[in-house]
Amino acid sequence: ARLTAVDADSDERAIEAALRPRSLAEVVGQQRVREQLGLVLDAAKARGRAPDHVLLSGPPGLGKTTLAMIIAGELGAPLRLTSGPAITHAGDLAAILSGISEGDVLFVDEIHRMSRAAEEMLYLAMEDFRVDVVIGKGPGATAIPLDIPPFTLVGATTRAGLLPGPLRDRFGFTAHLEYYEPDELDRIVHRSAGLLDVHLTAEGSAEIAGRSRGTPRIANRLLRRVRDYAQVRADGTVSLDVARRALELYEVDEQGLDRLDRGVLDALCRRFTGGPVGLSTLAVAVGEERETVEEVAEPFLVRNGFLARTPRGRVATPAAWEHLGLDVPRNVTG
Ligand code: ADP
Repeated sequence: ARLTAVDADSDERAIEAALRPRSLAEVVGQQRVREQLGLVLDAAKARGRAPDHVLLSGPPGLGKTTLAMIIAGELGAPLRLTSGPAITHAGDLAAILSGISEGDVLFVDEIHRMSRAAEEMLYLAMEDFRVDVVIGKGPGATAIPLDIPPFTLVGATTRAGLLPGPLRDRFGFTAHLEYYEPDELDRIVHRSAGLLDVHLTAEGSAEIAGRSRGTPRIANRLLRRVRDYAQVRADGTVSLDVARRALELYEVDEQGLDRLDRGVLDALCRRFTGGPVGLSTLAVAVGEERETVEEVAEPFLVRNGFLARTPRGRVATPAAWEHLGLDVPRNVTG
């Protein structure tokens, strides 16, 4: 049978779900977040109350959804999933909130992309466990207050700074997830290889880990692509050589930069002679959404010293020029 794009996509998602750690103990790295969150959960369990609302921030693929699922799992509570973009009207949120049972965990991914009206409804629900359901329209509309049972909201956002202050303040616990170190990604690759029954050498694993952009989701994805390559073009074992050849084929470079990352640096250096250039202009030049450049590519490029944010715009560092194999212009200093 022919595999359609949709099948392939849901297959990928099924594998991703299978690789998700199911308890805090299984989570690799994020030592401090694990400890703090463990304490919040244990204390709530001891008191027999729903824990404080939790805000998780950090770039995509670092484990926010995984932690939300673990929170629900550790509390033995059902997890209800939604996302900011899915809540376009306050009514969408009212419907979700009125269906909540005591102790439920409500996960709102990309919470910074909720509509303003929904945001205001959420403040009230978080603080007073109440929603005002508006019946009718115009001057005749009435708000009927509805009590909702205590629940725990877990919000995820790529950047906590994108949330309005009043919303941020209503979370009792905030955790920021940082990019993972190569040795942590190495452990994740080994763990996933075990679960997927992939044979890999220590060097093969380290190579994948080192090119994973500090991101567990990418480490798992690269492992699957390298496994494909090992099975089709080699003897099935993920060795250093197999990993290198496969990653070259998939255009992931030695520093882990992918096409988007390189596209951003390339536009910055070649089209804008290193900047400074505004974010929107840069996004247009690479043919991407402003948010994608800002929330996906930039944090990694900044952290790895390829790009700097200045008040006048984005600038390429000497490392960026060197990485692209270009001469560093004389006026560019580290
Ligand atoms: P996010 O919600 O931040 O985008 P996810 O929670 O969906 O990220 O994580 C993406 C994938 O990465 C998951 O399938 C999971 O297997 C893996 N992953 C994330 N964090 C960890 C971790 N700390 N340890 C092991 N695997 C992880």
